[in-house]
Amino acid sequence: MWSTARTVAAGDIVIIWQTRESVQPLLITPGKDFNSKFGFYPHSDLIGVPYGSKVGSRNGKGFIHLLRPTPELWTMALPHRTQILYIADISFITSWLDIKPGSKVIEAGTGSGSFSHSVARTVGARGHLWSYEFHEARANKARQEFSDHGLADIITLTHRNVCKDGFTVTNTVDSVFLDLPAPWDAVVHAKNAMRKDCTSRICCFSPCMEQVLRTVNALNEAGFTDIAMYEVLIRPHEVNEITIPKLDDIVTKLKQSEQKREEKRLRQIANAGKRKREGSSENAVENGENKKAKTDGANVTELHRTSELESTSTSAKGVGPQALQGADDSASVNGAKAVYEVRGHTSYLTFARLAPIADEA
Ligand code: SAM
Repeated sequence: MWSTARTVAAGDIVIIWQTRESVQPLLITPGKDFNSKFGFYPHSDLIGVPYGSKVGSRNGKGFIHLLRPTPELWTMALPHRTQILYIADISFITSWLDIKPGSKVIEAGTGSGSFSHSVARTVGARGHLWSYEFHEARANKARQEFSDHGLADIITLTHRNVCKDGFTVTNTVDSVFLDLPAPWDAVVHAKNAMRKDCTSRICCFSPCMEQVLRTVNALNEAGFTDIAMYEVLIRPHEVNEITIPKLDDIVTKLKQSEQKREEKRLRQIANAGKRKREGSSENAVENGENKKAKTDGANVTELHRTSELESTSTSAKGVGPQALQGADDSASVNGAKAVYEVRGHTSYLTFARLAPIADEA
């Protein structure tokens, strides 16, 4: 039974979080030790520690986090006996199949029990999950786990080949989930198990398009409607803090760089005049006239440029930027950029509805 107490006790199953890639379950057994590259931890050291704690190792080699199991963490930590469903698909299927507290659900096959744990939590004590697995050793192991995790009353696990022998209930379940190599062979059996007094739903999980097409044909032939196929892909968004410079700062910087350029230009003019004066005394008078004219010209340009700059900054202050300036003084916002290419295909999800049959409604 997964503990609901605040602190870890002997006999609890805890989730040991070392890194995102290294998450594992541990049965707390006094006298035993937990060893990893992150150090050495006698189980007795972990008893009485509040769930969620970060615990340092006895030999100072690192630390671990002690977490209370949840279906999400169990999916990350469970011992794999088969391929499993991950949380992106599980949540989408749960939502589309409208699985909620009190729902009655069938799944086949059980596999490693990843999907089963999430469904069991969602349907709760008022609902039920009938799970089927034709590999006997896998069925026994999953049954033991469900019992150890306090789910024996919510999940009934049956060892059988559902494609050949069908399910153990008739006109009972709100939804069916098939994660099988040949789901089309189980579609008619699923229909027998589904409620006919209201709309019930089915989902088939298949890795390739040929399987999807065979399933769609079987669903059509069995009278299912609203057949739709989805693929769930996770698209990461990179969130970064973007600094927005204040408008006054931008204007000040523009003015400063303009001023520097102008000073440089005036220096160049002055130097050129000086060189000419020193180089030719014969044309001194004429040169002097030229210099005066150029310098006057430079002053005119300088005046002109300065007034241009003033008018730019005035309009920048007066128009659109009011929104920016007036909003607040904060200089940063969070921006998100979606990663364009998404990898990680698991399977296609084929959904369909079974409409209520008038006689039974
Ligand atoms: N959904 C499971 C999970 O999240 O852990 C994984 C299911 S695994 C991919 C598929 C399972 O279906 C295997 O354990 C296999 O033994 C079982 N299976 C295959 N054909 C079956 C059949 N005809 N009847 C019952 N179980 C079957």
